[in-house]
Amino acid sequence: MYAQVVVLTYQSPDIDSYTYEIPKELKVEVGQLVEVPFGKRNPTGIVLSISPEIRNSKFEIRNLKKISKIIFNQPLLLPYQIELLKWMSEYYMAPMVNCFEAAMPPLNAKSLKLNAKLVSSVQLSAFSVQQTLVLVPTINQIPETLAKFPRAKNYVVYHNELKLSEKFAAWQKIQSGKADYIFGSRSAIFSPCPNLKEIIIYDEHDGAYKDERSPYFDTLTVAQKISALTKAQIKIVDASPKITTYFQLKSYIKMQMFGVNTKIISMRDEKLRGNFSPISSHLQEELRKKQHILLFLNKKKESGSMFCKNCKFNDYFEKHPEHCPKCKSQDIYFNVLNVDSLRAEVKKITKRLAFPPEARLPLRSEASAKGGSVQRSEIDIQTATVFYSPKINKYDTAVYIQPDSLLNRADLESVETLYSHITNLKKILPENGTLIIQTYNPDDETLKYSASGNYDSYFKSQLENRRLLSYPPFALLVKLTIKGKDKEKIGEIARKTFSNLNSTIQPASPATCVDAGAKRGERFNN
Ligand SMILES: [Zn+2]
Repeated sequence: MYAQVVVLTYQSPDIDSYTYEIPKELKVEVGQLVEVPFGKRNPTGIVLSISPEIRNSKFEIRNLKKISKIIFNQPLLLPYQIELLKWMSEYYMAPMVNCFEAAMPPLNAKSLKLNAKLVSSVQLSAFSVQQTLVLVPTINQIPETLAKFPRAKNYVVYHNELKLSEKFAAWQKIQSGKADYIFGSRSAIFSPCPNLKEIIIYDEHDGAYKDERSPYFDTLTVAQKISALTKAQIKIVDASPKITTYFQLKSYIKMQMFGVNTKIISMRDEKLRGNFSPISSHLQEELRKKQHILLFLNKKKESGSMFCKNCKFNDYFEKHPEHCPKCKSQDIYFNVLNVDSLRAEVKKITKRLAFPPEARLPLRSEASAKGGSVQRSEIDIQTATVFYSPKINKYDTAVYIQPDSLLNRADLESVETLYSHITNLKKILPENGTLIIQTYNPDDETLKYSASGNYDSYFKSQLENRRLLSYPPFALLVKLTIKGKDKEKIGEIARKTFSNLNSTIQPASPATCVDAGAKRGERFNN
C-alpha cells in the first residue's frame, strides 16, 4: 500500500504531497500524523490518501521511502477537513503544506519533542453534541461574545495565541465531540468539529478575517466551503456588512441597529465663519458639558485642512498643498491633524474658554489610555484601536473629527471603512448617546446614510457605483504580488506581466473605468 503525505516542512512550492510506502506492520489512516524520512531530516506529515498503487508513475519504485512511524493513531483531521484543505490549495493556488500549517496546531518534529507529553491518543467519544462555531475578529472580543451565549455549557476557546499545549488540548476536545460551542478568531474556522451545525461570524467586514500569509484565505469563503461540505448553517452578525457579502448572503445576515442621535457638522461653514480650529463651535459647547467624550481620529500623519486666504476655498488634504487648487494663490493656511496636534488644540481651547476645572483634565490620549480608572468629564483622543480595546468605555458623546480622508479616494474599501467607523462609534455609545461628525463633505451620501443607519440606501448607491466601475460583486479583483530582492528585476517582471495580461485579457470597458475613477476621488492624491 502507498500513501500520499503532505510533509510539514519547507519544500519546493510546486509539489503538494509525496508518495511513501506503508510498511506492513503499520495501520495507516487518512488524516493521521506520521513521521517520514525527507532528505536528511525526519519531519512529520499528514496522510492525504491511501491507495494500493503508486499514483504518480514518474516515481521509480526503487527510490520509494517508507513511512517511519505513526505519531497519533487518531487522525488529526476529519475527512471534511482534508477535502477543505485540498480545495483551499487549489482555490488559493497555495502549496498544500501552507494550507495544512494554517489549519492545524503547529505539530512539527521540533515542537513534538518539546511537548512529549502531548503524544497520546485522542479519546473519541461515540456521541457528539451539536457544535456551533462562533468567530470574532480579535481575541479581545471573546469575553463579551461569550456572555451572549448562556447556552454554551461545555465550550472551548481556540485561537493562535494559546500555548501549543493549550491549543492541542482544545483541538482534541473539539474533535472528541464534547465541546458544544467553539469561540475563537480567524484560525478557529479550522476547528475539527465532527458534528458542526452552525458557524456564526461576528463583524464579518473586519479585515482581521483575511489571512495575511499564504494561503491568504478569507474566513467567510472558507466557511462557505465548510458549509457545503458539512451542511452547517452560516450566520453573520454585523452592523456594516461588506457590499459583496450583503449582495451574496443577505438572508444570512443579522443587522445590528443602534439608537444613537447623530449630527453632521460642515467644517467648510465653520471656516467661512472664521473658525480655523479642527474643533467646531458645536463641539466647543460639547466640551464644556460635564460628560465623557471621545474624539475619534482616523490616523493620517500628514493630512489636514487647508484654507485659502485669497479666495476662501477650503478642503481636506492628504498632504500640505503648495498652493490653492482653485486660484493658485500661495497665501494659504494648513492645519496638520494628528493625535498630538489635536490634543494641543483641545488644551488650547479648553484653556481659552475657561472651562470648569472638571471638564478640563485629565485629557487622555492613546499613549496614556492603558490602565487607570476612567473618570467622568474626560476628553479621550483615540484612533481605530479604540474599537478593539477589551473593555470599551461607554462614552456619552463620540466625535468623528475628520472622516474626509476616507472620502475623495479612488479606493474600493475606503467607503466601507467609513461606514464601519461610524457604526463602530455608535456601538460604543449608550442608547440615546450622541455622535457628531465634523466634515468638509456634509452632503456625501455615505456619510448621510451611515449617520442615519440607512444601510439599504447605502448598499443600493454603492452597488450602482460598483456596477459602473465593474467592481466586485460584478467582477473579480485579483491582486498580484511580485516579490524578490532585486528591485529592478521585479519592476521588469511586473511590467512584462502587465503587458502580457493586457494583451490577453480584454478589459470590459477601460474608458468607463477611467472616467468613473476620476469622477470619484483621486482629486488630491497625486
Ligand atoms: Zn484660493
